[in-house]
Amino acid sequence: MEQIKIVEIFQSIEGEGRNIGLPMIFIRLEGCNLRCLWCDTKYSYDNENYTKMSLNEIINKVNSFKNIKHITLTGGEPLYNKGVISIINNLIDKYNILIETNGTIWNDELEKFDFNKIYLVCSPKPKEYFIHKKILEYCNELKFVIDKDIIFDTIFSIIKKSSKKVKITFQPENNKVEFLKKATLLQNKFLEIDIEIRVIPQIHKLFNIS
Ligand code: SF4
Repeated sequence: MEQIKIVEIFQSIEGEGRNIGLPMIFIRLEGCNLRCLWCDTKYSYDNENYTKMSLNEIINKVNSFKNIKHITLTGGEPLYNKGVISIINNLIDKYNILIETNGTIWNDELEKFDFNKIYLVCSPKPKEYFIHKKILEYCNELKFVIDKDIIFDTIFSIIKKSSKKVKITFQPENNKVEFLKKATLLQNKFLEIDIEIRVIPQIHKLFNIS
């Protein structure tokens, strides 16, 4: 029986991106292919904080949260964990699936799913900001963390390669005022070339919730 490494499954509100505020079930899968300096979920890939769960155990846990219609698959990097396909396969008929990815990995098996029921959010990571071409094709939302290093040209080069449907979101790093100012300056600069970008905080960090 397939066993999938899961760090945690919990209910909360979506704290980031355009689905902000929705009641959400989070499935945090174990593992990540990157090691970002400012990562706040290092426990998801330290090889200690996971439980091997069968699909039935995962489904039973998810079903224990009543009336919630949305699931976020997160990590770590959820697409790094091969179990992600079985999880989507078993939950997509009942739930809207949101995948929160760093954009560097693609799994061809994803293409068998109805992407009307999958909302793919990519948060590209410095320094390379590499995004797999399939992620660019399917991505619904590009979410940029606005920190001291990110520049207009980096963001623009990614937007240019993305599909037309993609929405762009800026989130000031750690909700710092200096980065909110930078985000609004960049927002105005993109507006000059008719690209609309939404600037929003990370509300789970504002209120210190999981
Ligand atoms: S991709 Fe995400 S989970 Fe992985 S190291 Fe970077 S911030 Fe952490």
